[in-house]
Amino acid sequence: MQKQCPTCNGSGQISYFLGESRFLLTYEECPDCMGTGIVQEENDSEQNSFDEQD
Ligand SMILES: [Zn+2]
Repeated sequence: MQKQCPTCNGSGQISYFLGESRFLLTYEECPDCMGTGIVQEENDSEQNSFDEQD
């Protein structure tokens, strides 16, 4: 299942200000969706419970 990447809001890019300058806006490929803007939603129907006793 796919959903819009919450990190970049589906744009595939994240922008941030570099250093102190308010005018130097840097764009970078979103690491969460690798620039696609879409992330794979994890299948949470499968619950793996780790209740191993030590
Ligand atoms: Zn993203």
